[in-house]
Amino acid sequence: MELLHTRADLARLASLRSGGRLVLVPTMGALHAGHLSLVERAAARGPVVVSIFVNPTQFAPGEDFARYPRDLERDLELLRPLGPAAVFAPQVSEMYPGPDGTAVEPGPRAAVLCGARRPGHFRGVATVVVKLLNLVGPAVAVFGRKDAQQCLVLDEVVRDLALPVRLVDAPTLREPDGLAMSSRNRYLEGDDRRRAACLSRALQAARRELEAGERAVAALEDLLALHLADADVVEYAEVRRVPDLDRPERAEGRLLLAIAARVGPARLIDNLVLEVGPREVRAAALLEGGQP
Ligand code: AMP
Repeated sequence: MELLHTRADLARLASLRSGGRLVLVPTMGALHAGHLSLVERAAARGPVVVSIFVNPTQFAPGEDFARYPRDLERDLELLRPLGPAAVFAPQVSEMYPGPDGTAVEPGPRAAVLCGARRPGHFRGVATVVVKLLNLVGPAVAVFGRKDAQQCLVLDEVVRDLALPVRLVDAPTLREPDGLAMSSRNRYLEGDDRRRAACLSRALQAARRELEAGERAVAALEDLLALHLADADVVEYAEVRRVPDLDRPERAEGRLLLAIAARVGPARLIDNLVLEVGPREVRAAALLEGGQP
């Protein structure tokens, strides 16, 4: 496992890149089993590069950039047994050589849900991911469905900028009580940790209601809200169409049930992607190459 820090170090990937099978897994580190599952899935497709970079431009002023957990040594220990070809862990100056440099402005999918509440967030995500794709040169990049809107925004960026890479989304790993694994779960203690499970419970309740035949989006969103009483602040709990993220009135076709809520000191997100037919409801992927 090569440890790469600079743009110049990435030249060491040249022979792997020319094989045309390189797979990139971008992360912000503080790795957990969810990240590791992405690396395992990536490894089934080709040699893997994991990037570890806490990207400052996707944090708004007042968000948790400064206190975001960082532990490169532990991350490397967790990755080593999975055998990735390389870990790319650059400094901020390596990714952002000039102040206020060029940025990528994502399209309409970035305007709703988290995009409406975290100004500039997806601009920062799109900018850093385009840089990582250009620097590493993978054939495939794997992203977690946990960050569903991020997958759809980046899918649009790749399409619109004609980037030569295929994006794949992978399922969300959860704790035994349903809480989606996240580096930010470290902020949760005691009662906050217990209450955090309400996000996944709300999603499962909405799924059961869909399976029972409910198709009115307003009723499903009311149900989500009802199950989120344990959260301190619900930022949104909505049903959206995949891939455009428009708001349907009826629940049909491929849908994203998406929640963002604050519990104690943590801002948590969770979601469920479902294919809703006239009689059948099943788990689905967001992107063409994804596995449900
Ligand atoms: P992050 O380090 O939070 O930026 O996440 C890096 C990648 O891991 C993103 O593609 C996330 O969507 C993905 N990810 C985060 N949490 C999970 C999880 N619980 N299960 C699967 N993938 C995840």
